[in-house]
Amino acid sequence: MSNNFDVVVIGAGPAGYAAAIRCAQLGLNTACIDKSIGKDGQPTLGGTCLNWGCIPSKALLDASHKYVEAKNELAEVGINTGDVSVDVPKMIARKDEVVAGLTGGIAGLFTGNGVTSFAGTGKLLSNKQVEVVDHDGGTQVLAAEHVILAPGSVPVDIPPAPLTEGVVVDSTGALEFDSVPGRLGVIGAGVIGLELGSVWNRLGAEVTVLEALEDFLPMADQRIARDAKKILSGQGVDIRLGTRVTGAEVTDAGVVVSFDDKDGSQTLIVDKLIVAVGRRPYTDELLDPDSGLVVDDRGFLAVDDTCATEQAGVYAVGDVVRGPMLAHKGTEEGVMVAERIAGFKPQVNYETIPSVIYTHPEIAWVGKTEQELKSEGVEFNAGSFPFAASGRALAANDTQGMVKVLADAETDRILGVHVLGPQASEIVAQAVIAMEFDASAEDLGLIMFAHPTLSEALHEAALGVSGHAIHMMNRKRK
Ligand code: FAD
Ligand code: AMP
Repeated sequence: MSNNFDVVVIGAGPAGYAAAIRCAQLGLNTACIDKSIGKDGQPTLGGTCLNWGCIPSKALLDASHKYVEAKNELAEVGINTGDVSVDVPKMIARKDEVVAGLTGGIAGLFTGNGVTSFAGTGKLLSNKQVEVVDHDGGTQVLAAEHVILAPGSVPVDIPPAPLTEGVVVDSTGALEFDSVPGRLGVIGAGVIGLELGSVWNRLGAEVTVLEALEDFLPMADQRIARDAKKILSGQGVDIRLGTRVTGAEVTDAGVVVSFDDKDGSQTLIVDKLIVAVGRRPYTDELLDPDSGLVVDDRGFLAVDDTCATEQAGVYAVGDVVRGPMLAHKGTEEGVMVAERIAGFKPQVNYETIPSVIYTHPEIAWVGKTEQELKSEGVEFNAGSFPFAASGRALAANDTQGMVKVLADAETDRILGVHVLGPQASEIVAQAVIAMEFDASAEDLGLIMFAHPTLSEALHEAALGVSGHAIHMMNRKRK
């Protein structure tokens, strides 16, 4: 086998594998290198997303939500279930099966599309050469016309809370508990902390989330964030803001977590502690000093809008570059780079990246928040619609939350859509489509939505921007 390729991709997460597959589909001779070892001790593809991120967390979120429904909600709709109990090892094993199916699927896609897969560590050398060290220590050097760096990210650890196997864990460890902890601490009320805290809270743990910031979900629309906090607190997740963790000691009585809040220095004892304080780019062993590339002071690789680095023919995509650390953002960047290498000119629209937090209800948004528009001095109109007034949400007994649409006061162009509610992740996709086509709130209001659907709440919120919502008492008729 020749070691010369048109394209070598380092990293087979959603950014790297999408890039590799698209390159191969476009007729480029493509290799992809990944060093991950799965739970079974074998090389695995799919990166964080498939192995330790999006997919396993959603498998546990969906399973734990079914448990809550069975335990607390089915009786309300006339279904008596008797005693409901949780089998944690079975839940984890099923999660592992989902992961294995999908990671195996990437291997199949590589084979089917003709991507040459290398299991090992890739390092960018000079002149677009890439060294591969396999898991037995064997080394070879690949030569490429183009190199795509997609090494992803890993959890940040903080000195006050060093990891202790099975007790003080990061997000990966939090997907592997073999029983429900009695008391669970979570450091960080970001997306990952809230999702993993929700899983174990639903299964019966007493969950306390300690967050240094005073604001809850500062990146979300603050009205939505306030309502979400109220709902999550009502579910039993104790979210303490303005609480900075300063230490965590594993003792026989449990993990003694020290923190500072407005009342001074305090402690909390928990059985397990999840450290969910963010992620950092994973560039260990990635760059040879001769590669011509260095990371910035936060560990990211600098790229332009087309994900090109300062080295001609070398690109970087996914969590290792600026922008939100989200799988779909990385995938679109990977596809963009592949198509640019093949001579096309696609772009990623960074203004319409959807964000989702998979709590229940889900929190999802795209575009600007109300507080961003205000601070930018943009005049806007807002329309909102509560799920409590949605026929479908009422029929489904799932009525918490609302949809909020923000549109430019002059042009009516949609600037942001914020959803707290059932299926928010699906509803926000419609908002992304509308914004991609530069729709106005009126455009969305003129479109016919099937009845009864949760999506009608988006329709009504869009109509509400000009005071035309049908199922609301509007004073502002035009
Ligand atoms: P990664 O998925 O991290 O993949 C990079 C791969 O490259 C890894 O396999 C790594 O081992 C490999 N690699 C690194 N360096 C080298 C090297 N030198 N040689 C060879 N291989 C190398 N995002 C969402 O959009 N939705 C979600 O619901 C969501 N949920 C999440 C839940 C959790 C618990 C976590 C931790 C993350 C979640 N994310 C979610 C974030 C998402 O997983 C990441 O944004 C995404 O995986 C980034 O993709 P990537 O391809 O850039 O990197
Ligand atoms: P994210 O980066 O969205 O995953 O969120 C991580 C969260 O952890 C941020 O909101 C941080 O403010 C929070 N955080 C970081 N360090 C600490 C700490 N020592 N104590 C409490 N919260 C922290």
